[in-house]
Amino acid sequence: MKTLGKYSFGLGDRFGHQGTAQLKAITEASKHGIEITPVWNKSNREHMTIGTQPSDVRTEADHATKKAGFLKEYFVDADHINFDTVDRFIDSSDFFTIDVASYIGSKADDNEIKEFLSGALKYEGELKIPGIARSFNISKQQIINITEKYLFAALKAWDIYRKIEKAKGRGNFITEVSMDEVPEPQTPAELFFILRMLALENIPVQTIAPKFSGRFNKGVDYVGDPQAFNLEFESDLKVIDYAVREFGLPENLKMSIHSGSDKFAIYPSIGSIVRKFNKGIHIKTAGTTWLEEVIGLAVSGGEALDFVKEIYFESLDMIEELCAPYADVIDIRISHLPSKKEVAVWNQERFAAAIRHIPGNSNYNPDMRQLLHVAYKLAAHKMDTYFSLLDKYEDKVSESVYENIFSRHICRLFDIK
Ligand SMILES: [Zn+2]
Repeated sequence: MKTLGKYSFGLGDRFGHQGTAQLKAITEASKHGIEITPVWNKSNREHMTIGTQPSDVRTEADHATKKAGFLKEYFVDADHINFDTVDRFIDSSDFFTIDVASYIGSKADDNEIKEFLSGALKYEGELKIPGIARSFNISKQQIINITEKYLFAALKAWDIYRKIEKAKGRGNFITEVSMDEVPEPQTPAELFFILRMLALENIPVQTIAPKFSGRFNKGVDYVGDPQAFNLEFESDLKVIDYAVREFGLPENLKMSIHSGSDKFAIYPSIGSIVRKFNKGIHIKTAGTTWLEEVIGLAVSGGEALDFVKEIYFESLDMIEELCAPYADVIDIRISHLPSKKEVAVWNQERFAAAIRHIPGNSNYNPDMRQLLHVAYKLAAHKMDTYFSLLDKYEDKVSESVYENIFSRHICRLFDIK
């Protein structure tokens, strides 16, 4: 049975050029005593936008690991797939993020609901989860509501899981279930019943990605109350712990945080909470690798700087179109975006400083960073030029990618000084 290591990192690499730099960050962590399993992930949406195939991610992962002589385990994640999109990922992936977010709120049929309730209603009343100081008081109506809201999604997860299992065989891949791309967070009590649903469907889920409170915008810091997040996160961990024993889920079931990258305000506490309770964690970092490529090109100056400025100028003209598919995961204040005129005279360091995520740097502009984050499509339109620049300025680009994953993500999470 394939099992995911205790700590794992989901690495996005939209254009498939940074596998080696990303792996270097993983290897560096290992030198500091932190073993992280790398997982390369790319969603269907990203493949569609760029025109790549899931097999390209496999090729890149195999190539990067071979080149580096990396002999530990690594995975290729079919990120946010559903019943309709999973097919072309099946051969090349060994990790599947089954996304059931869009099914939440649809009601399962009455018999299914009745059947689930017949077992679940025994949790009515006081529900005491070991490690959570305050017990939950669960009413019958609450259990019915949760069932009506989530059971259909859990049944869909089973359909999708079965499709993959049929093709690959049980135990030959890692299963994640994600529900993060919804507006409403799931409470720890909801998570408890969702895990029961997945267990009853016999889905060997190894990672679960709930939606947490607060905003996880792409490429920028956490927006919300970090204290409240810590409490919620710790409660969720305890719920998972209990559910593993109570429902017989895989022993190594752990939390997956679809971080959207750069959640610096909560990384240290996520790290310390998982260490305190000796838990594993999967951190998905999303496609900010692309932003690090932009930064690497910017600091290279000359034609490379001109290229990324041009991308920014185009993104200003197409802002609505670029942002529409990401409305739930970005918050751009248009009035804070620097004008073309301003940016035109910026030198390499000034441009890089605007989008490099260094909290406290007065030149850092999260609005510009988010806009460029969703502007990767514009580079895809000029792929040949873009790739030749990435090759030509590889040193600076890979340094930027490495720095971001290692210094800004891994060091914060695992308290590496
Ligand atoms: Zn996600």
